[in-house]
Amino acid sequence: MDLFDVIAKEKASGCHDAAVFGGFGLFLHNWAEAHGIQELARLAGLYAISASDARPALLAEIEACLRQSEIRTDLPQKTATKPAAEQPAVQLPLTALPGIGEQRAALFARLGLHTLGDLLEYFPRDYRDRRQATSIAEAQIGSLVYLRGRVISAETARARSGKTILTCFFRDESGSMAAIWFNQPFLLRRLQKDVELAVYGRIENRYNNLSLVVQDYRIGKEIADTPPLEPLYALTAGLGQKAVQAAVRAAFQRCRGHLPDLLPENLREKRLLLHREQAIEILHFPEDPAMVEVARRTMAYEELFLIQLAIRRNAIPTKKIRRQAVDDQALLNKFTSALPFSLTRAQLRVIHEIYADLDQPQPMSRLVQGDVGSGKTMVAAAAICKCCAAGRQAALMAPTEILAQQHFQTLAPLLLSQGLTSALLTGHTGAADRRLILAQAEAGVLDCLVGTQALIQDGVKFSQLGLAITDEQHRFGVAQRARLRGRPATDLLVMTATPIPRTLAMTLYADLRLSILDELPPGRKPVKTYAVDLSYEQRVYRFIDRETAKGRQAFIVAPLVEETDSVAAASATQLYAHLQKNIFPNRRLSLLHGRMKPAEKEQVMADFRDHKSDILVATTVIEVGVDIPNATVMLICNAERFGLAQLHQLRGRIGRGSAQSYCILLHQAQSELARERMRIISETNDGFRLAEADLQQRGPGEFFGQRQHGLPQLKIADIFRDAPLLELAQQDIQPLLAHGSKLPEAGEARLSRLLDYMACG
Ligand code: ADP
Ligand code: MG
Repeated sequence: MDLFDVIAKEKASGCHDAAVFGGFGLFLHNWAEAHGIQELARLAGLYAISASDARPALLAEIEACLRQSEIRTDLPQKTATKPAAEQPAVQLPLTALPGIGEQRAALFARLGLHTLGDLLEYFPRDYRDRRQATSIAEAQIGSLVYLRGRVISAETARARSGKTILTCFFRDESGSMAAIWFNQPFLLRRLQKDVELAVYGRIENRYNNLSLVVQDYRIGKEIADTPPLEPLYALTAGLGQKAVQAAVRAAFQRCRGHLPDLLPENLREKRLLLHREQAIEILHFPEDPAMVEVARRTMAYEELFLIQLAIRRNAIPTKKIRRQAVDDQALLNKFTSALPFSLTRAQLRVIHEIYADLDQPQPMSRLVQGDVGSGKTMVAAAAICKCCAAGRQAALMAPTEILAQQHFQTLAPLLLSQGLTSALLTGHTGAADRRLILAQAEAGVLDCLVGTQALIQDGVKFSQLGLAITDEQHRFGVAQRARLRGRPATDLLVMTATPIPRTLAMTLYADLRLSILDELPPGRKPVKTYAVDLSYEQRVYRFIDRETAKGRQAFIVAPLVEETDSVAAASATQLYAHLQKNIFPNRRLSLLHGRMKPAEKEQVMADFRDHKSDILVATTVIEVGVDIPNATVMLICNAERFGLAQLHQLRGRIGRGSAQSYCILLHQAQSELARERMRIISETNDGFRLAEADLQQRGPGEFFGQRQHGLPQLKIADIFRDAPLLELAQQDIQPLLAHGSKLPEAGEARLSRLLDYMACG
């Protein structure tokens, strides 16, 4: 085999850079470098990244260059037939691309891009339409336009600020205009008279002349090489649009022909999707905007499908449960007759949903979402009753001791009235009690165990654990959830007060069925919320003083613990000292912040619950779910710094008693967005509405960005826009799971990477 044969093959096959596995251009580039022919290496690199119509000419140049070099061109058999690299191209590091060395690669790494595959899935955030240039005469002041013309003249000058200003006059048929660059004097050389120029930028009025301040430009031959719809990528300092575009192009050339579909063929047809390689090509190098949407849809569907499948595969329980029949109605009658109130319709509905799950042979996996105060504990109690009636044991876990205690205080008497035994097991349980409880659990004489996570981690042995309940679940990721269930034949009930919009919940919790408690028990007085600016500060303090004089308690939330943060946020510690000394000298204040040890925090919370202090000054660490009915005021300082979901969570700490409660947002909102947040939170108590608004303001990235979910960032799908796709993907997963069928090889490989990622989450 001779190199000239390879060139002939490349020519004959239409210059697709495919004559050699892994890319002809790259192959030749490496060969030329190995033989020290720099010019050839350069041409070969150029070949790899050029558009196909520019390639025949390049190929001719390459051939000529090779002949001139008079070097031996016979190839060892191995090199010509075997791929340049053993790895699949998508796994190659970016340094495998011509023009990307270690330094460049480090810049790409900042964008999270390490391999060619990463780069190919780094989709443009937008496109610039170059199909139609505006005519110079029509360019409006203030607008962003794309203009094309020929250079009349160009000159540089130095501004007083020290900047160099390059001004280039150019014209089209309709008129002429100046294009202006700052600090790029080296361009002057290229802006010769009559050279073609394409510029993109904003039209400004400078010294009474309309000028275009250039954001992007192409000169001469570059214009023809620029695609009609130019992809625009999110950048990082030191890495420009052209560099990313070139790298993506080179990566695609290198991987073309090796980007197999990850999903089964029948789904592609059923959902009218493109082939993966096609979709990737269109997204990066589009010719028709209509196709961009089809391609985006293809990749978004793939993304949502794989994430959900990964979650489901992660969670699939294998064992079936042999259930003992239970008379639900009799059970429920006995349960409700022991309550001082009647259950809300929402509570009853959710209990029935759970009871239906508990009749199925496969283990239950259910998420109960209910705003603070919606009565999730009663739902848990009802579930425990059915589990125990069927002869099995239940465990209820809370994230902290104080919450575990609170649950135990509520549940123990209630369960006892149903003839069920229960115990509390936490870090504070004494050794003797602990031994006894463990023995009872193992012997099966204990029906329900309440505690912290330590319950399942400490190797507590149950005789027959039937149901694991976890409260305030948003702190646990996908992986923890799987561990939580422990044995595969255990039912899992997850309760959370974090209102998550349905579409998002379906993705994050694809392994759970969803129940929603969308009704508060009657007779609740909704918390009154007031957003006020700093001029009200003293009045607010007087109000808090009056409330505490009546024997009530108040929370005061400050956003940051330390002053080190340069922004002027109130420090909880300072605020505490200031308030105790100057504002509330006659009240008992206590302090709670994230730098305290967990045991200290619990103690402060417990003391506040027991009314050993009147005012708790705290950062946002205030325990979720702790019931302090006597606390009627929540003052949030610098409220503009908080997101809606967080404000709502904080507000949920009050309004749990019969007295009217007040949430006061002391703010200095400057931006429109912050003012909007203050308005929305004052107007509604509906957690779901707030969550939707929050998500819209911040974008789902925030949700996914938090590693606590243990899920990767979405690369292309949009939770709102793609909600219908999400549902389709969810439907399509079912048969796959039911038949235990596999994805194509590449799909399985991707899936196992996702599962690895989630396992570390
Ligand atoms: P969540 O955990 O959902 O925030 P809880 O279970 O702590 O709410 O319930 C909040 C309060 O409401 C508790 O004091 C509880 O006894 C009470 N409660 C629960 N269900 C009802 C109901 N159906 N009617 C009246 N009060 C209820
Ligand atoms: Mg609760």
